[in-house]
Amino acid sequence: MPAIAPYHPDFAEMLRRFASAQVRAAATIGGNIANGSPIGDSPPALIALGATLHLRKGDARRAIPLEDFFLDYGKQDRAPGEFVEAVSIPRQPDRLRAYKLSKRFDQDISAVCGCFNITVENGTVTAARIAFGGMAGIPKRASAVEAALVGRPWTQDTVEAALPAFDADFTPLSDMRASARYRMDAAKNLLVRYILEDQGFATDVLEVTA
Ligand SMILES: Cc1cc2nc3c(=O)[nH]c(=O)nc-3n(C[C@H](O)[C@H](O)[C@H](O)COP(=O)(O)OP(=O)(O)OC[C@H]3O[C@@H](n4cnc5c(N)ncnc54)[C@H](O)[C@@H]3O)c2cc1C
Repeated sequence: MPAIAPYHPDFAEMLRRFASAQVRAAATIGGNIANGSPIGDSPPALIALGATLHLRKGDARRAIPLEDFFLDYGKQDRAPGEFVEAVSIPRQPDRLRAYKLSKRFDQDISAVCGCFNITVENGTVTAARIAFGGMAGIPKRASAVEAALVGRPWTQDTVEAALPAFDADFTPLSDMRASARYRMDAAKNLLVRYILEDQGFATDVLEVTA
């Protein structure tokens, strides 16, 4: 948290809701990535930031975009004996918002975790990195939604027009944390929340607080 907070305060704030102080004191970011959980909280934020994963076995090292590490549920691009040595994030202006939806503040795995990093130049979306946890068997980018935004004016009309693309990107499951319908509706609403907050509108969100 102290390392990331000066650059991406929203990521640090989300990490504050990651498990609890006791678990955070023992857990590592490397382990949170390597275990490949579809509901781990750090991968969506790191993918949205364009993170690179550094893998190592002995003296052999390779680096891949973090999103390419997650192949399928329970399957990662990691050879036997290879370990996650580091994760690096390109330095960039902070446009990240990381939204964790869970029922409690402490010790609650996300039902949905949506992370948005949308670049706007002269009123037009020039780049979009959107990643979700809890919406698929892996942490996953919303590629169709991103494509529906890039090159278009950064307006609420553009966002509204992009919302159906969520249905192309994700087929979420129902489980004890949330129904598929809740997950899909919530994911779409998080994009709406992002643009409203970005444009300075107050959002009426009941945040879980400590
Ligand atoms: C009470 C509780 C609450 C939790 N809440 C959250 C939460 O809110 N959000 C969330 O995202 N997670 C949550 N978790 C999960 C927790 O974040 C992960 O267990 C933790 O991040 C994993 O890191 P670790 O270093 O403990 O890995 P370990 O549990 O030690 O390892 C996990 C797996 O990854 C492998 N591994 C570990 N490090 C590496 C590495 N560097 N390279 C390759 N393989 C490696 C291990 O061999 C093992 O198979 C919670 C867990 C608990 C117990």
